Amino acid sequence: MTVVSNERMNHKGRFSRVVLKMSGEALASSSSIETIDAEIVDRIAKELVASKSELGTEIAVVVGGGNIWRGTTGEHRGIERSTSDTMGMLATVINSLALQEALERNGQPTRVLSAIHMAEVAEPYIRRRAIRHLEKGRVIVFAAGMGNPYFTTDTPAALRAAEIGAEALLKGTHSGVDGVYESDPRTNKDALKLDEVTFMDVISKDLRVMDLTAITFCKDNDLPVLVFDLMVPGNIFKALNGDRLGTLIK
Ligand code: UDP
Repeated sequence: MTVVSNERMNHKGRFSRVVLKMSGEALASSSSIETIDAEIVDRIAKELVASKSELGTEIAVVVGGGNIWRGTTGEHRGIERSTSDTMGMLATVINSLALQEALERNGQPTRVLSAIHMAEVAEPYIRRRAIRHLEKGRVIVFAAGMGNPYFTTDTPAALRAAEIGAEALLKGTHSGVDGVYESDPRTNKDALKLDEVTFMDVISKDLRVMDLTAITFCKDNDLPVLVFDLMVPGNIFKALNGDRLGTLIK
């Protein structure tokens, strides 16, 4: 893997630099109609701050927008796909700002870097600047996906991870998904959870853990993906620390 910078912080965990991908729905509340539940965001932010301070890992986050809007939602209702996807990318900016606010409230300097220019609310995404923020101990949040329609945020999460030389993509899941199963656990209650699986198996068996575009990108660029349940308190620390958790795709 390309080493982008030698100036990484001293770290105690398994990884020195990671990208954490979380779905927008992880920020939503199951118990109310709120699209963003401040308590959940605060819990995730607190865990990120505590884990970073203990382990020294450099953390970049990609938050999806599915709690607010997905491109396919609009497309099914007659909205032109590119416009609908742009709406989805803007939704990720809203979530990113919510996370930035919670991280900073908990004492962690954070920068939002947006792939769509909006100078008043976020810095533009510039790769070298992103790396500099990480070296200075800031958490960064990549907003607005890649800035291009026809993708979901899984692909920019993988792309940014490769660009900044992250050692792994941590894919935090929600709704009870705690890893990759050999078949769909919702339809087969005896389905076995896999501790490790190859990219080839995920692709050929269509294990549907991430978008195929993103999985293929990770395979081509030798970027391991750890799939774990973000909603279980303590799991962010375990993922960064390298504890046995979820499923590792490599
Ligand atoms: N999106 C896009 N290009 C990107 C990233 C996202 O067009 O590079 C749009 C797409 O419409 C997607 C939406 O933004 O559905 C929200 O992202 P995503 O579906 O990944 O959110 P999540 O399911 O992770 O909450």
